[in-house]
Amino acid sequence: MTTADGHGREARLGASVRSFPELLLQVGRSLHATLIVDNQGRIGRIDRQLATAVGWGNGASPEGRFMEEVLHDFPWLMRALHTALTGRETVCEGGERDERMRALVLPVFGNEGQCLGACARLSASEPVKPASAQHETLEQELTRTQQQYEELVNTLDGIVWEADVGFRFTFVSKQAERLLGHPPQQWLQEPDFWRNHVHPEDREWAQAYCMKATRERRPYEFEYRMLATDGRSVWLRALVTVLAEKGRPLRLRGIMVDVTEQRQARETLEQVASMLRATFDSITDGVLVVDRNQRITAFNKRFLQIWDIPDELLQGEVDPQKVLAAAVAQLKNPELVRARVYALYAAPEQEDVDTVELLNGRILERTSLPQRLGNTIIGRIWSFRDVTEERRAKAEQERLLAAEQTAREQLEESFALLDTFLNNAPIGMGFLNRDLRFIRTNDALALLHGRTREEEVGRTLREMTPYAAATIEPLMRRVIETGEPVIGLDLELEVPATPGKLRYFRVSYYPVRTKSGRIVGLGAVVVELTAERRAQAERERLLREAHEAIQIRDDFLSIASHELKTPLTPLKLHLRMLEQRCTSDQPIPPHLVRKSLAQVDRLSGVISDMLDSSQIEAGRLELEHEPLSLQQLLRETLADFRPNCLHHPLEYEECAEELVVLGDRARLAQVLTNLLENALKYSPQKGPIRVTLTRSGADALVSVSDSGIGIPADQHEYLFERFFRARNAPISGFGGMGLGLYICRHIVERHGGHIWAESETGHGATFRFTLPVRT
Ligand code: ADP
Repeated sequence: MTTADGHGREARLGASVRSFPELLLQVGRSLHATLIVDNQGRIGRIDRQLATAVGWGNGASPEGRFMEEVLHDFPWLMRALHTALTGRETVCEGGERDERMRALVLPVFGNEGQCLGACARLSASEPVKPASAQHETLEQELTRTQQQYEELVNTLDGIVWEADVGFRFTFVSKQAERLLGHPPQQWLQEPDFWRNHVHPEDREWAQAYCMKATRERRPYEFEYRMLATDGRSVWLRALVTVLAEKGRPLRLRGIMVDVTEQRQARETLEQVASMLRATFDSITDGVLVVDRNQRITAFNKRFLQIWDIPDELLQGEVDPQKVLAAAVAQLKNPELVRARVYALYAAPEQEDVDTVELLNGRILERTSLPQRLGNTIIGRIWSFRDVTEERRAKAEQERLLAAEQTAREQLEESFALLDTFLNNAPIGMGFLNRDLRFIRTNDALALLHGRTREEEVGRTLREMTPYAAATIEPLMRRVIETGEPVIGLDLELEVPATPGKLRYFRVSYYPVRTKSGRIVGLGAVVVELTAERRAQAERERLLREAHEAIQIRDDFLSIASHELKTPLTPLKLHLRMLEQRCTSDQPIPPHLVRKSLAQVDRLSGVISDMLDSSQIEAGRLELEHEPLSLQQLLRETLADFRPNCLHHPLEYEECAEELVVLGDRARLAQVLTNLLENALKYSPQKGPIRVTLTRSGADALVSVSDSGIGIPADQHEYLFERFFRARNAPISGFGGMGLGLYICRHIVERHGGHIWAESETGHGATFRFTLPVRT
């Protein structure tokens, strides 16, 4: 307080106002008192108007000063106040003639019945009446004062009451109804009203307490609950004075103030405080709160545990230095920590987190924060967390992480090796999990699937090889289920890389087991055999062909030797006969010479065919092309042939149009002669032979038909191959080497024509060939 009013007591005034009894001030406020003084005569409250009237209206406050200082111009009021401080109520009047004032002055008692002070309520007084009307004025004055008193009592923020020692009310102020709902008459008339309406939980003790206090004739104060008409519980603070006469309690007088709100606020505050305290004690951090003077203001149980503070240090007033010393003694690095603590005390604003190590190996994480009240720093909060396990776990975790990292690197290395090995292997290799999903493959296998390794991983077998899955999946599943490998199974499959093409593979599937024996998937090894198979097939074909060639050679040798030998036998016979005839000078019959010559012709024909065939095979058969008339060629050839055909009718139908072709006369005649010879040879029944020449579009068409043994339909396609003879040929009884038609086809095709046969077994045969007509 800084007022300087010349009275020289400022220094204690502040303190004295603050130490005014709260109860006195509370009663004063309830009475709307103009002036409140304590039992020392110090002013606690003074109405501004009154302060102005007594000369203290210039800004300085008289509160806290002795009334003698302040009220020296109002001696009548001071007298009344002194009277009230002795415990008696007073009504007094004073002041100048025109400004007369009246005061009602009441003593206020504390819990122990001691006088706490007095409250005065002042009001302007009516001017003084003449002497004749003195009595009447006094009457009126009394009535008015009584009214004022009642008004005062009824406006009090509490129930003013009076009762006999049996707690039966003889008076209650109107507040009774406002606070609890029960009208004053009920308070007065209901015999046991108070007892009946006290909250059941408070009834016994409150009554006992009141009776005891009454017996002891001491004023008392307590808080209890009463029930309002609407069922509410109302907390009341009761201040009771026991009025006694000749040492016996006579009446009770008091005031009940509604403290429900304060009570609830206090309860809430207590709950919060208890919750905070419980929280404070239950947190795992040890907390110490120190004020700005480094005095310990709070600590929790955990703090004591963490620092193992001995109990004796906490008895009575705690010495912060001793606590610090006890803690520091446990540190590994006490000087450093102590220096840090003092540095933080020297910098109140600073926040700090640090780690301290204890001699016993424990590690504490220490946090230090300023404690603030509003904007003011009022101390420092130290909290300690035992992070020993956490740090150990972290160190262990780091060790495990490092080990895992090393393991991962080793694994990656292994995988790199495996990948190198896999990808450089010339065979397909892959690993699949139990769901038949690829977890690793090599390039060779991925290539078969038309994918890259990266695309393949994570996909199922069915996705990768839709064509083959139906065959492969059951095999793989069996390996996984039984643990039995499939080794070296040959499969013919279509793979996605080459759709529509069958390829050959040799596959092996092995179960992949963990150390514990659990099958986690399978490894597949796929070796392609397609090229090998092809090579083998080629080898087989070549072998077959070689065999065939040998067979052909052998057949040829046997046929050729047979064909060559066949004419030789009759030729030899004829020559012997000719020899005999010559030696015996007999005439030589011409038919014998003709027959010999015919056998020579046959021999020469066989040899010509063999020569032509070998020239065709070597690509050395030479043809001479010249324009020639087919009519002429056919007529001449038929004329040459007729002598051989004495027993078969030979018919010729010629085309009216002159058909000229560009060709080799002798070779074309050879073709026609060969067809005629065959017709003759394979017609043992001596049926007619018919030759026709027609035009067919741009070609000349020559046909030779017979009614002989015919050719089985399934043999037609082979007729023009070298050494081929139809299976029914031998029954004709004629030999042959199967070279004639082969040579015919070559000659016709060399002329740009085409040759074919139409026949049925037993119904003769027609051989036709075309030649392009020269335009
Ligand atoms: P070949 O010397 O065996 O007659 P070709 O090459 O002339 O040889 O004839 C091949 C085969 O065609 C004959 O062996 C025979 O089986 C059959 N063939 C040819 N012409 C006739 C035909 N006109 N009637 C029945 N079969 C014939």
